[in-house]
Amino acid sequence: TSEEPPKPTIFSKIIDKTIPAKLIYEDEHCVAFHDANPQAPVHFLLVPRKIITGLSAVKDEDKMLLGHMMTVVDKVAREQRLDSGYRVVINNGPQGCQSVYHLHLHVLGGRQLGWPPC
Ligand code: 5GP
Repeated sequence: TSEEPPKPTIFSKIIDKTIPAKLIYEDEHCVAFHDANPQAPVHFLLVPRKIITGLSAVKDEDKMLLGHMMTVVDKVAREQRLDSGYRVVINNGPQGCQSVYHLHLHVLGGRQLGWPPC
């Protein structure tokens, strides 16, 4: 097809290490680093090296990559001492408040989260 290649964002620079970030995990498929504007005592982002603009742009060929990332989340969460629990969030599109158009999982924890009531 003649689809445009997805545009690099600030996350590509973090992945390439051309701008600094607090990296906490990396492998050949994905990278995790602390969010610059944390919303919980621990708030990190898990990002595929491949530029996928968001959940809406995920293709069949990405299934293995996304499955792999799901197995990485808990590994990194435990390293960050989130044994008591955490939340994984993906913001998608304008109404989902996505601001960086390079797919990423937010992982939040280190305090009792406020929703849902529990
Ligand atoms: P979104 O709203 O797209 O789901 O979330 C983007 C997240 O990336 C935000 O939580 C924001 O704080 C974080 N972020 C944006 N730019 C940078 C950056 O340059 N470094 C780091 N570490 N986080 C960033």
